[in-house]
Amino acid sequence: MADPARTPSAFGLTLDDWIEWAVERGLTKFRAKQITEWLYIRRVKSWDEMTNLPQGLRDELKSAFSLARLPVVRLTGSQDTTQKFLFRLHDGRLVETVRIPANVHFDGGQSDRITLCVSSQVGCAYDCKFCASGLAGFTRNLEVEEIVGQVLAAEEESGESVRNLVFMGMGEPLANLSRVTKAITILNAPWGMNIGARHMTVSTSGLAPQIEKLAESPIQIRLAISLHGASDEVRDRIMPVNKKYPIDRLFAALEVWREQKKQKITFEYILIDGVNDSPEQASLLARRVRPMDAKVNLIPYNTVEGLEWKRPSEARQDAFLHTLQRAGITATLRREKGHDIAAACGQLRLQVETAEGVIQAAG
Ligand code: SF4
Repeated sequence: MADPARTPSAFGLTLDDWIEWAVERGLTKFRAKQITEWLYIRRVKSWDEMTNLPQGLRDELKSAFSLARLPVVRLTGSQDTTQKFLFRLHDGRLVETVRIPANVHFDGGQSDRITLCVSSQVGCAYDCKFCASGLAGFTRNLEVEEIVGQVLAAEEESGESVRNLVFMGMGEPLANLSRVTKAITILNAPWGMNIGARHMTVSTSGLAPQIEKLAESPIQIRLAISLHGASDEVRDRIMPVNKKYPIDRLFAALEVWREQKKQKITFEYILIDGVNDSPEQASLLARRVRPMDAKVNLIPYNTVEGLEWKRPSEARQDAFLHTLQRAGITATLRREKGHDIAAACGQLRLQVETAEGVIQAAG
């Protein structure tokens, strides 16, 4: 919930919101365009820098909206490697955002460009049994400006534009659909962050009704499904969301998506030893996915402290991959270092918790 006592952020408004704000004050729509240009193109940090706005308007904006960026509490990694930003939110909560450099191949986006992996919630309520984010439960949804703010701050810190974006950080993005959709509008718009819609991917654990709702949106965003099991039996065991939206229901929603969007769907599948990595699961997965224009990314599980699951042997990983490939499925196995941070939604939580411990100890 937004804190009513807090000055609203200027980065939570779309151009239409700015136009409405301007028109309510008897101003022309052109003022709204000027404001968004100062915010997103020129990236000014004070209202006084908006020199083509009358002083009275600047004063009104100053008292009504904040231009504050998300403060970076910690930054690890370098520009050539994966970088992790830890941001502090206005209520002291922390979120992590990961910048994946262009030279690291990443299947969630184009491999030749920088990819930013953003969070959509603090914690997560969906309790996937292998996921670090689910461990601490759900705290709150991120506001629109906190989602846009991760991208803005990462660009300003690194001095580089983000051209690919994946909602694979902490949280289930489709459980925060209205804010995520509004943030995507700002991130995509030419007057905003100008990131191509086809270079943005939302990753979901399978919220079928929300997939159908997002399918109705005109934005051509890409969809990734954190599947991690090819039968209800396996999925029920590791992803409680499956009890609400079993595989048949999920795939019915994906048909709606395909019908509306006419684009490839990506399935993320974390291979967990003895849980979902059997030849039977591989064959079932192939049968499920074959009729669709889809791609499967296999990700060997990365051990999370406090959780019981293990990574399968490389031989077992390869066997799973080959079963899919023999069935004609486009599939990859991401074994290289660095991909653990973007394996699925919510895989960042442990690092955040660790960092919180460090900060508290330091403070
Ligand atoms: S995998 Fe995604 S939906 Fe599941 S608990 Fe983690 S963050 Fe939530």
